[in-house]
Parts: sequence; structure tokens; C-alpha cells
Amino acid sequence: MNPVRIGLVGVGKIARDQHIPSIAGNPGLVLAAAASRHAQVDGVANYPSIEAMLEGAPDLDAVAICTPPQLHYEAAKLALAKGKHVLLEKPPCTSVLQLEHLVRLAKDADRTLYQTWHSQHAPGVARAARLLSGRKLRRARVTWKEDVRQWHPGQRWIWQEGGFGVFDPGINALSILTKLIPGAFFPRKAVLVVPSNCQTPIAAELELESDDGAEIFASLDFRHTGVQTWDIDFETDRGPLKLSSGGAKLSIDGAAVPSDESALAGEYPSIYRRFAELIARRESDVDARPLKLVADILLTAAQLSVEPFED
Ligand code: NAP
Repeated sequence: MNPVRIGLVGVGKIARDQHIPSIAGNPGLVLAAAASRHAQVDGVANYPSIEAMLEGAPDLDAVAICTPPQLHYEAAKLALAKGKHVLLEKPPCTSVLQLEHLVRLAKDADRTLYQTWHSQHAPGVARAARLLSGRKLRRARVTWKEDVRQWHPGQRWIWQEGGFGVFDPGINALSILTKLIPGAFFPRKAVLVVPSNCQTPIAAELELESDDGAEIFASLDFRHTGVQTWDIDFETDRGPLKLSSGGAKLSIDGAAVPSDESALAGEYPSIYRRFAELIARRESDVDARPLKLVADILLTAAQLSVEPFED
């Protein structure tokens, strides 16, 4: 079978760090083109926009969308209209209704829509899901604190409407929770901290509760210098579990489960294996719950305006 020919849209940090090497490492896939306003990828046909790429490289089978989230919906719609399979980076869209519409368009076009949550592929997450399925969750505490200047230097889109602010990384934690907690849970209280020169929050304190009474607390903070923390602590009826390093490491009752993988390292090869598998089966995979959770949090939250953010 010929490899799936992929066109990459938005050649920025995640495209270079993860998508390009992961496509190169998968024998069933080949990077055939790229569309970016400024950046180029060596060895493939480069175009200044997705429109130009779809026009100039009609033999592409699939498109991987890695632009900021404000552009995801239009790009995915264009690609589906041209009969391409679509891999859509997180956060999938800036509205839940847009995502639902893309699901409909993919179905009508008989094409794969794979909307990715990379943290769901972190090495500790599948094992934690198996363990939690046999326990009763009493409480979960998310601590997702990182230095935005270190991880997102100069990314103005994060602070603009639809840019998600601290929910850009925070939605990764929520995507782990939706994977591990199959039952319903809802926001109870939320406070968003918004710099006076930004449209999106730089920090958030969240309280959520599950339908069967488990409490979930989350502290998200983009202002955190020093040791960077992406942890989720679970209290269960059979003792504690902890996911740390963004889901890469798992400990049970305080004892670390050995793993040699770092968070992002194993996630993207797994994402592209899944994409190839979905295309072969002509299936889609979209988990809207993390986006719905963010939308509900934004609906219920109080806002605190703070000093301007300077990059
Ligand atoms: P980024 O470094 O800013 O890259 C995005 C690229 O999209 C830019 O370099 C830019 O390339 C292109 N682009 C097209 N239109 C743009 C516009 N109006 N404004 C800004 N850039 C535009 O962002 P990223 O960190 O790669 O993130 C991209 C997506 O991946 C986001 O949805 C993010 O949540 C997700 N993601 C990021 C990470 C991470 O660690 N950074 C991890 C997982 C997922 P041109 O200037 O050449 O057009």
C-alpha cells in the first residue's frame, strides 16, 4: 500500500518538534507538502497558505493542522471539502459548535477526522485508566503550573480571543481527566485571572465535581517560574495514584512505576499510528469533552483583572 501523503499546515513549534519527526518515523506516512506564511520544511513542496497547498498538491491524502486554534476550523473545513483526511491539533476549535460541525462534514465526506489530545497518549495515562476503573475516585487535584515565557515565547495568539490562555496547556490536564473519569463531571466554581492587556486568562482556580460525588480541584498557572509542574493527584478508596510530568510518570501509593519515556516523546508517534489506523478504517475519532469543559468553565467563571502581561 502507498504511504499516506500528508500536508502540514502551520510550521511552528509543535510541527517542528513533534509532527515532522513522527511522520518521518512512520513507514505508512510521508510528509509531501507544507503550508505556512513564513516557515518552510526542507525536502517538500512549500506553499504560503492551505488554499495554495490544496490547489498545488491535489494528490495529498491528508492534512495535519498545527496552526493556532483560531484557524483550525476554517483549515479543517477547507481540507475536508477537498476530500482530505484531517488531523487536528488541540485545542480543536474555538467553539464546541464548530467542532460538531466538522464531525458532520467529515461524516458527509466519508473522510477521517482525528482530533488529537496528545496528553491522552502520555505513557502513564493508559495504566492509570486501568487502575482507576477498579477503584472509587474520592478526590483529584490538578497542579498545572508552567512559565509561559519559557514554553510559548512570543506566541501572541495565546492572549488573543480564542487563544485559550492558560487553558492552552490546562486543556491537556482536562483531557487526561476526561480519559480517566468516564462518568459526568461539571464545573462548580471557577476564578479566572486575566491580565488587563489580554483577552484570555493567565491563571485559573477551578472546582469541579463528578456526578457520583468526587471532588476535582485544579490550579492552572502560566506565571510559574522554577520547577515546572504538570501533576494530577488522585485519592481513591484503595489509596493514592499520582500522574506527573504531564502524564508521563505514574506512581501508586507513593511508589514510582518505572518508565523510560518523557511526556511528549512517545505521544506523537502514537498519535500518528492512530491516524494511519483510522484512515485505513475510514473512521473518525473526536473527543469533545475537554473543549466542552473549558466552554462550561468560561460560562460559570468569575474574572479577576490583574496587571498587564509583558512577554
Ligand atoms: P506556534 O509555534 O505559534 O506555531 C504555529 C504556526 O502557525 C506559526 O509558526 C505560524 O507559522 C502559523 N500561523 C499561521 N497563521 C498564524 C497566525 N495568524 N498567528 C500565528 N501563527 C500563525 O504554535 P505551536 O506551539 O506550534 O502551537 C500550534 C498548535 O499546536 C496550537 O493549537 C497548540 O495548542 C498546539 N500544541 C502546541 C504544543 C507546544 O508544546 N507548543 C504542544 C501540543 C499542541 P507562519 O508564520 O510560517 O505562518
